[in-house]
Amino acid sequence: MDRDRPQTPLGNILVVDDTPENLRLLSTMLTQRGYAPRCVINGQMALRACNSNPPDLILLDIMMPQMNGYEVCQHLKAEAKTREIPVIFISAKDEVFDKVNAFAVGAVDYISKPFQFEEVLARIESHLTLRKLQKQLKEQNVLLQEEISSRLAVENTLQEKNQVLQQEISNRRAVEKALQEQNLLLQQEISNRQRAESALLKSNQELARSNAELEQFAYVASHDLQAPLATIASYSQLLEKRYQDRLDSQANKFIGNIVHGCTRMQVLIDDLLEYSRVGRNQKPFELVECDRVVEQALANLQATIRDTGAVVNYSDLPAVTGEVSQLVQLFQNLIGNAIKYRQESPPVVTVTACKHDNKWLFSVADNGIGIAMQHQERIFQIFQRLHTQKEYSGTGIGLAICQKIVERHGGSIWVESEVGQGSIFYFTLG
Ligand code: ADP
Repeated sequence: MDRDRPQTPLGNILVVDDTPENLRLLSTMLTQRGYAPRCVINGQMALRACNSNPPDLILLDIMMPQMNGYEVCQHLKAEAKTREIPVIFISAKDEVFDKVNAFAVGAVDYISKPFQFEEVLARIESHLTLRKLQKQLKEQNVLLQEEISSRLAVENTLQEKNQVLQQEISNRRAVEKALQEQNLLLQQEISNRQRAESALLKSNQELARSNAELEQFAYVASHDLQAPLATIASYSQLLEKRYQDRLDSQANKFIGNIVHGCTRMQVLIDDLLEYSRVGRNQKPFELVECDRVVEQALANLQATIRDTGAVVNYSDLPAVTGEVSQLVQLFQNLIGNAIKYRQESPPVVTVTACKHDNKWLFSVADNGIGIAMQHQERIFQIFQRLHTQKEYSGTGIGLAICQKIVERHGGSIWVESEVGQGSIFYFTLG
């Protein structure tokens, strides 16, 4: 093996020439300079050699029988596999036309015979370098294209993400705006409520103050009225007893009216005192069996029940925390009214209780005359009556007392009724 020759050939060169001498000369010299030449003697062989193993460069003779160099070059340029192989024509033809023709069919260079081998070598070298650079450029180009397309893909993804982000941002802004608006409304609502609450508190305080005043007044008035009333009543009765025979009928009637007025006034004062006592002398609350309470109320109403033939139903009433005497009075007033405001048929009263919102909801239902819608609130106010004394006796204080008792026990009271269809009084107790 030649020690100067590099182990890997500098290039794989196909030499095409129909003159064996030229072939040999070029082959020897190329081999000496480190190239790996292959030699063929006509165009067909050249095309076959290129197809089976494409060389790095072709030295191509022009004038050859059957297929000249131009045709060989045209075939090579027509095939993708061989198109890129640089072709250098070596020819004895030295006309400009020939050279132009050679470049027209795709040659990269043209060397006129007889040639200088150093020139051939220099041209081979420069075209191989050119070819190598072209290849590198192409590869770099491919890499660059890949880089560009991957960057484009990244950019696209980024743009898409950006769009999603923009959408998200605008959605959030919309939500934020809606929230701010709601917040504003809520703030307004809160300040409205606060205003209403403080107004309510103020009027509640006012109410409590006037209630206390009224209570005080009712207590003082009824208490202080009792003594003079008793004097008037007893002297009237004395007058009636002692002078009945000495006075005319009209005077007797007048005295009768005074006695009757006194009795009525006594009832009013008693009720008023009762009303004012609900808030006073408060006894501590205890656990009270409501069945026992109703029993006591019915015992107090015994005469009325007997006289009217009333039927009062109740059973399994719960135990509640409260003041016995007040609860007896509550049931007594309600059952008493249910019997008093009756229709033709004997009164039927039903007392029930059920659990409702952690409280006991009681009801006292009757089959009486009923109450028109427009009066259902005011009957709980003191002295509010819907009938004359002749129609139904009473003072208009009973339900006001009931309301006071229920409220003292932390509950509320109301009525549901229709004229002629009976009434149901509801109240809650803790
Ligand atoms: P009083 O019975 O002394 O008039 P209340 O305060 O107990 O006073 O009742 C106020 C008014 O409510 C009564 O005058 C009556 O018109 C009406 N009322 C109360 N209970 C009933 C009832 N169960 N059925 C129909 N009306 C009733």
